[in-house]
Amino acid sequence: MKRRDLLKSALGISAGLVGMTALKPLYASADDMAFKAEPMFDVEPTKVTDRCYYFLATDPEPSPENKAFFNNPGFIITSEGVVVVDTGSSVQIGEMVIRQIKKVTDKPIITVINTHYHGDHFLGNHAFIEENPKIEIISHQATIDNIKNGGGEFWVGFMQRNSNNAISGTVITLPNKTVAGGETLKFGDTTLKIHQFAKAHTECDLIVEVVEDKTAFLGDVAMRRVANMADGSFPGTIETMKKAKALGCSNYILGHGPHDGPAICDDMQAFCENIYLNAVKYYDEGLSPFEMKPKIMDEPFMKNVASKWPGYDSTLGNFISLAVMEAEANMF
Ligand SMILES: [Zn+2]
Repeated sequence: MKRRDLLKSALGISAGLVGMTALKPLYASADDMAFKAEPMFDVEPTKVTDRCYYFLATDPEPSPENKAFFNNPGFIITSEGVVVVDTGSSVQIGEMVIRQIKKVTDKPIITVINTHYHGDHFLGNHAFIEENPKIEIISHQATIDNIKNGGGEFWVGFMQRNSNNAISGTVITLPNKTVAGGETLKFGDTTLKIHQFAKAHTECDLIVEVVEDKTAFLGDVAMRRVANMADGSFPGTIETMKKAKALGCSNYILGHGPHDGPAICDDMQAFCENIYLNAVKYYDEGLSPFEMKPKIMDEPFMKNVASKWPGYDSTLGNFISLAVMEAEANMF
């Protein structure tokens, strides 16, 4: 079976059925096994609180050297079992995450939460459903829809190209349970609140608040780098940052980069305000994105803080264009 067909057949199966049944054809013969790239190297998890850990990825982009490991899968140890937040870019990374969790706790992995539909946050699902075919994989419905409607295939291709095929063998594995934000999930001694504040990094970002530990997993709604805003919203991110800070957490664990205190919410808010509010202002004055760029770069926050973030030089122009497009769309 060609890889494309494999993915198509995996995608054609409804969410409830994606599991061992869906995976069996992949392992039906030795030929199929040859698809699978070698295992991911081990990354030590970072402990934030007694319950909350994450795997810090140091590179901002996928590469053959990092095997497409460039975001932070996380996990929460509850008295009932382990809840994983985002699973990495491949089955190999998912397997590594499982391996490392087993070194920290003997509790079973019972639930996975995908914060959104970008490939580095859900492609590792495959490893978890292989480990436990009954595992609950939670996301927003829009995450499932996006993965099904071409997003899944796009991300497999993206990761394969950028990692020199280090994710070979990864089968797109859909979440099988949906939340919309506002839910409270109890896992024995641990309370998880699921938040979905606004269209921020995507239209369906989930924030996972671990109430007892005053810690929130933010997915990609905040980061100290200039990355992917193509699916997002500047005003929505500003609103989300205000609400994320109002949770009053001590720790915010990010999809990319080291965890932080509430200051991360301030920084991301300031970053989006500097770009968006200036884009609106200069748009009214008739400036093009190209003409706005040096003026925005001259703002103190941009000069002193954001300019040090990875991707600033290469991506800021694109961010300003996106802000102008969003400002235009909101005007008419
Ligand atoms: Zn993302």
